[in-house]
Amino acid sequence: MINVTKTFLPPQEEYNDILKRAWDKQWLTNRGELVLELEQKLKQYLTISNIIITNNGTIPLQIALKLLGKGGEIITTPFSYVASTAAIVWENCTPVFVDIHPDYLTIDETKIEAAITNKTTAILATHVFGNPCNVEVIEAIAKKYHLKVIYDAAHSFGVNYKGISLFDYGDISTCSFHATKVFHTGEGGAMFTNDEALYHQLFYSHNFGHNGPLDFYGLGINGKISELQAAMGLAVLPYMEMILGERKIVIDFYNANLDFSKLKAIKIRKNTDWNYSYYPIIFENEAQLLSVEKVLNEHQIMPRRYFYPSLNTINYAKGQTMPISESIASRILCLPLFVGLGEKDLRSIIDIININLC
Ligand SMILES: *Cc1c(COP(=O)(O)O)cnc(C)c1O
Repeated sequence: MINVTKTFLPPQEEYNDILKRAWDKQWLTNRGELVLELEQKLKQYLTISNIIITNNGTIPLQIALKLLGKGGEIITTPFSYVASTAAIVWENCTPVFVDIHPDYLTIDETKIEAAITNKTTAILATHVFGNPCNVEVIEAIAKKYHLKVIYDAAHSFGVNYKGISLFDYGDISTCSFHATKVFHTGEGGAMFTNDEALYHQLFYSHNFGHNGPLDFYGLGINGKISELQAAMGLAVLPYMEMILGERKIVIDFYNANLDFSKLKAIKIRKNTDWNYSYYPIIFENEAQLLSVEKVLNEHQIMPRRYFYPSLNTINYAKGQTMPISESIASRILCLPLFVGLGEKDLRSIIDIININLC
């Protein structure tokens, strides 16, 4: 079976060598040496000044919304993984959807101002598929209306925009290190901010609010990652260059061989060093997608409908209709993309798609 993704696993001896350090120290949690080392190495790799690694990519969204959303209306994108909207509702904030740009698939910044009310506290936008939102315009709007900006950058590991890490944009930016993401720790994630006071709040929030063993800065939750997961990150990180290189080869092959007279690819924003995180194709209509998907499935090829449905239509978040997002969500399919996906398999995927487009 060929799945949409296949987790990259480093050689097991290398993982064991790193794990041995946790055994030797008999220390598995509470920001041990492996977590601290992974934070240092990620700062260097990403050229960023700070990072807090967390136990997944959802908790950082919840912490960010708790600190900056303050129970208000959050302007957000309907085209993302469900965690973006679920975190808003989970934190007792109200999602207010703004439709997406038809080519970039990120929130349409030209429609944000019309959605702002006196209850709006923040904008939560997703750099979907690692494609940057229009961060400059969003920042200007946020300044004008005194709003906070949170980026769900779950897909953006290693993406640079205008020469700096995409994680450097927004008041808080979050990432996921889930096993299906480009860089992973099995389960894991991270949060980023360049504001020192906010960094302090994020830090204590992810550790029960602790200020030493007996004192507390404020409210907190458990967002910590274990040494076992950090060991996986340390074992995967040296392979990032290879991982990104192999993914690029797969994407170049799709780009060169799929029949784009009937399909559309997404457009990556200018000045982006992208991370080849997903390969979405957009069909002319849902019926065409479903018929191609059916034939692929019959050949044990399992693409995924990232992202369906449009989040404004889910039962706990019912929002206004979002024509572009709903249309794209019904027609978009992410094709298999992972290290080790060879030319023979790629050819059969491409042939099935091209032959069944009608
Ligand atoms: C994966 C993902 C998340 C959630 O990350 P987890 O690590 O699975 O909790 C949030 N937002 C988006 C856009 C994602 O793709």
